[in-house]
Amino acid sequence: MKNELVWEKIKMASSIGIAGHINPDGDCVGSCLALYNYLQENFNEDGKKQIDVYLESCPKEFLFLKNATALKQTCAPLIHYDIFIVLDSGSIDRIEKQAQELFYTAITTVTIDHHISNTSFAKVNIVDPKASSTCEVLYGLLDSKKISKEVAECIYLGIVHDTGVFKHSCTTEQTMIIAGHLLTLGVNSAKIIDETFYQKTYVQNQVLGRCLLESILVMNGKIIVSTISKRIQEFYKVGAEDLSGVIDQLRVTQGVEVAIFLREENVQEYKVSMRSNGVVDVSKIAMFFGGGGHIKAAGCTMYGSVYDVINNLTAGIEHQLGKEV
Ligand code: AMP
Ligand code: MN
Ligand code: MN
Repeated sequence: MKNELVWEKIKMASSIGIAGHINPDGDCVGSCLALYNYLQENFNEDGKKQIDVYLESCPKEFLFLKNATALKQTCAPLIHYDIFIVLDSGSIDRIEKQAQELFYTAITTVTIDHHISNTSFAKVNIVDPKASSTCEVLYGLLDSKKISKEVAECIYLGIVHDTGVFKHSCTTEQTMIIAGHLLTLGVNSAKIIDETFYQKTYVQNQVLGRCLLESILVMNGKIIVSTISKRIQEFYKVGAEDLSGVIDQLRVTQGVEVAIFLREENVQEYKVSMRSNGVVDVSKIAMFFGGGGHIKAAGCTMYGSVYDVINNLTAGIEHQLGKEV
């Protein structure tokens, strides 16, 4: 019902803003561009609507997606959008500062998301924590007969990334049915999987190796922790987007319940990534420290020495594991 209302508002709107979270991942870029392209192709044939998409950046392996170079970071003067849609973000502080301002000054606001930690911050909140990805939630809102090959590529990429190529437990029958339909629209699955997910640069592989080499096991091997300092990131000239595979490799270590990866962003400031193999709900721990995410994949930012950060996180995990035995 509420979804029909959103489509009515989209039809009537003369300006539409779209935004996704900072440090955009495949699901974020995929869902933002899928919606942008779908709206341009089906609701803006005469070009009269102003449709903009705000994203911090686009990782270069996603640049083949249609209109990936049309992304904006800012606007001046401030645009008062008729409708502003936030994708793949559990809370409003996950999007960039000026995009937040655009959200607050818009007439109608919508969030489309799949984070269990979503705070329902918009007027219309379309959130399905059981969905594999925001792209899957978005697909459910679109007219499947009006999805072009280019929109299909965006959605497929988002699903591939948030399911870790259909291997995470968030992958359901519905996910596969959607992916199957997207293939019939001409999506080159092998190319998207290889070139956007598995392919790494030489230096990305070097850093991955280093993070694995320096990882430590705690709590009888139930927790694995790896840290990368700012100095090492600067030495290899790598950023967050180069390190996205590290946490997945840590998680598949035999016997591990929770993997933790700490990326030093500034002195005494760590971006925390956590992955669980099922027993521990890492979104609870991330939310406790001001972040969010899903039961098996969550993150937050923490301050203090690396030892304090690890101790605080492992205490929360131990507490949950303790309840299990
Ligand atoms: P990451 O470890 O950065 O890949 O994040 C795992 C999941 O947790 C993603 O779905 C993120 O959207 C979410 N997440 C990560 N960091 C934060 C944060 N600071 N606040 C809220 N959610 C987060
Ligand atoms: Mn995301
Ligand atoms: Mn997502």
